[in-house]
Amino acid sequence: MKQVIYFSMEFLIGRLLVNNMQNLGIYQVAKEGLADFNINIHDLEEKENDAGLGNGGLGRLAACFMDSIASCGYPGHGYTIRYEYGFFRQKIENGKQIEVPDQWLTLGNVWEIRKPKHAVEVSFYGHIEWRQGENGRSYCHLVNAEHIRCVPYDMPVIGYENKITNTLRLWSAEPSSENLPRNKDFHSYLSETRELCHGLYPDDSTEKGKMLRLKQQYLLVSASLQSVLKSYLKENRNFDNLSSRYVFHLNDTHPILAIPELMRILIDEFYYEWDKAWEITTSVFAYTNHTVMAEALEKWPVSYIRTLLPRIYLIIEEINRRFEILVRNSTGQEEKVRSMAIIKDSMVHMTNLAIATCFSVNGVAALHTEILKNEIFSDFYQLMPEKFNNKTNGITHRRWLVFANPELRKLLADCIGEDYICNPNQLTKILENVNNKKMLRGFLDVKKQRKKILADYIYEHNHIKLDVDSIFDIQVKRLHSYKRQLLNIFHVIYLYQRLRADANFKIHPRTFIFGAKAAPSYFFAKKVIELILSVGETINNDPYVSQFIKVVFIENYDVSKAEIIMPAADISEQISTAGKEASGTGNMKFMLNGAITLGTLDGANVEIYNLVGDDNMILFGLKNQEINELRKNHSYNVWNVYNQDNEIKQVIDSLKDGTFGDSNKFNEIYNEIMYKNDEYFVLADFRDYCKAQQKAEEWYKEREQWAKKCLINIGNSGFFSSDRTIGDYAKEIWHLKQISDK
Ligand SMILES: *Cc1c(COP(=O)(O)O)cnc(C)c1O
Repeated sequence: MKQVIYFSMEFLIGRLLVNNMQNLGIYQVAKEGLADFNINIHDLEEKENDAGLGNGGLGRLAACFMDSIASCGYPGHGYTIRYEYGFFRQKIENGKQIEVPDQWLTLGNVWEIRKPKHAVEVSFYGHIEWRQGENGRSYCHLVNAEHIRCVPYDMPVIGYENKITNTLRLWSAEPSSENLPRNKDFHSYLSETRELCHGLYPDDSTEKGKMLRLKQQYLLVSASLQSVLKSYLKENRNFDNLSSRYVFHLNDTHPILAIPELMRILIDEFYYEWDKAWEITTSVFAYTNHTVMAEALEKWPVSYIRTLLPRIYLIIEEINRRFEILVRNSTGQEEKVRSMAIIKDSMVHMTNLAIATCFSVNGVAALHTEILKNEIFSDFYQLMPEKFNNKTNGITHRRWLVFANPELRKLLADCIGEDYICNPNQLTKILENVNNKKMLRGFLDVKKQRKKILADYIYEHNHIKLDVDSIFDIQVKRLHSYKRQLLNIFHVIYLYQRLRADANFKIHPRTFIFGAKAAPSYFFAKKVIELILSVGETINNDPYVSQFIKVVFIENYDVSKAEIIMPAADISEQISTAGKEASGTGNMKFMLNGAITLGTLDGANVEIYNLVGDDNMILFGLKNQEINELRKNHSYNVWNVYNQDNEIKQVIDSLKDGTFGDSNKFNEIYNEIMYKNDEYFVLADFRDYCKAQQKAEEWYKEREQWAKKCLINIGNSGFFSSDRTIGDYAKEIWHLKQISDK
């Protein structure tokens, strides 16, 4: 059957023991069997390392997709790198983030099987020689290249109770056994080879022009394509019909080198003519864009690619030459030829290469796809509108509800049965029960149990005692300017100042919970973590204010932590600057567990809002269009906001007056806001955000009404199951059939 090959530099898998036993249908029997030996299965679960081969949302999406592809019965396999060290572990020391290596393999990875028989060789460097063939055609040879042996490690991806198991293949670099380099000693070769799969790049939005990163990317796509094509050739004489058997999906820009690599293999190794090779290549690749942030639209210096991958560079040059002709002939406009060029300013623009080649280009939420079509890739969209489509992200509701929140699972089972586990649309059945008092009280009880579990965790790790009747207001995600953790902590400072200033000002007790890793080189993001910790320190130790507010920073936010956090939230903070968050998937995990979204009209928040409406979500802030207008007309001035609103001024001034420690400590945050005209519109949205927060408090006080809103959110969350997303990819892009179950 036709299969999808999902190329991704990241898979943020998390733990697999519970997931695999649940999907096999043996969890309950294992739990009872272990109990007979006085072993609590939960203690066993805690022993497993969290596989963190990804940075955040993008890597977690790939992992959710693998679960849904197998659980929905589609044939499809993931390909990635077997990083020896995953995403760094975060420690907080002296009020700052410290990065510690993630040694996830020290106890071995029990799920993987090394497959040395399936090793392939990948070539770097060298130079090109053209040799005349007997037919008069010239053929390209790469000489004096350096060869690396790539050994696959396979991990099973087990479908939910359907007897289907796909594969996640992880490549590891080893020294070649036959082709040792002649121009360097074995020792340097060995250490360079080891370096290749040493670690994941701990940054999800910027590419530091690093040769090593480029090597990793090429290693992944070259090894994977060789291995896939080899197995294809066992049953086919040539690659003419490759697209009837395979579709290659590129998860973001990182694996785009697969395009020229397939061209290279077809032309140099199987002697295809350019045109036929191009026809095959353009029929097998599909690309997903994940961000509109300019710094994440990957570009590589021509000199890097030319040095490391001389043949690949020539192929990109030829694709570019032909594409320029196509654009010139169809538009007649030189500025369009330039804007869409793959090579310009001595850089290779990877996204342009992908859009020029792939038969499908998709965004990850409705608004995001509109921005791709009408803003950042509008020239491409006008030229080739048929390529563009939307596939709103999703999450596997099995991991994020059924397994992570057994208390909620039980409540739902008693009310609507368990058909929703394989058919998430069935969650809408809850909507018929949202006025049932027993159900409402049942939900409040489940939420309280889950808040208690999180409170116990926080007491153990942060030594902060929480009131489970306070509002658990949670923002957990990577730390980034556009995600605006700063807006959240500014609101906390504002409440602190009002409580201090006015003895009559009272609020319902709140627990503000944060979790976020900052990229090690992202100075500003690290400062925001310092600010959150300092504000927490001041407030939690203030005998008066701490009766109303607690601020908690959960160290080392990862998948396992998310599984404890999501079920415990009352409020889900999704407060990015409109237009910047492509989709978000954290927002979906919270919704599925019955939290109320407090957010901007951004990413998939728009679709949450369209499903649940103003009664069940709290919307605030500027819209994408409004922000575009403000930018275009230069009509936003941060100093006006600061000077005209005394409470905002006090919040900003507290960064410099020593309220939260040393008065110089937060200069960079002050400067970032005040001297860069508040690039992410934090102060522009501040007042509306405060109002939204007040509304959340009023809603929360009406306990049964609140429970009803939460249940309406759960009842509408089936759309955000990755089963729905994968169904859409399979039908509309991949054209896959489901394997019959029995
Ligand atoms: C879901 C998830 C993310 C993505 O969160 P967003 O709020 O969508 O940015 C990041 N990290 C982890 C560990 C996750 O589970």
